[in-house]
Amino acid sequence: MIKNCPRCGNAVEMKPLGNVSAEDKPLTLRVSGMPAAQCAKGHAAPIDRDFMLWLIHELKNRGSALQAGSEKGMLFKKYMCSCGAELASKSEKRQSFPLDLAYQGAPAFKAELEMPVYKCSACGKEQLRSAKELQGHVAQGIASLNDAAGFPHSG
Ligand SMILES: [Zn+2]
Ligand SMILES: [Zn+2]
Repeated sequence: MIKNCPRCGNAVEMKPLGNVSAEDKPLTLRVSGMPAAQCAKGHAAPIDRDFMLWLIHELKNRGSALQAGSEKGMLFKKYMCSCGAELASKSEKRQSFPLDLAYQGAPAFKAELEMPVYKCSACGKEQLRSAKELQGHVAQGIASLNDAAGFPHSG
């Protein structure tokens, strides 16, 4: 945990942030109670240097465990269900996937990934069209989340 505010140098305490959300279309990312280093002036910063990187890896890992189709084709992408059928080209709805996260030495907090889901017309399974696509949006979404949380830019 860092000891001083990167903006003003005052002492910081670990406190949870309220609801913070960010977007990298079509992904919406939400966190609630995310621990942050906060000073008396109300500045907020990640609790240590590794926190944001950890968050990216964690969300990518969790994202890759969600039910998803697979990408086929170089130029014209198709998305296939695990049953072998092609997924519909339009999603029917957005779905949010709640996650419980905990960083070493900090209280647990909640996160949510919201993405369009696609229904397979053959077997009826609803799924993301691609885990790889989700992972691509996670990194960018975290950059926006960093700003939305009022964290300084670092690294
Ligand atoms: Zn400060
Ligand atoms: Zn299917």
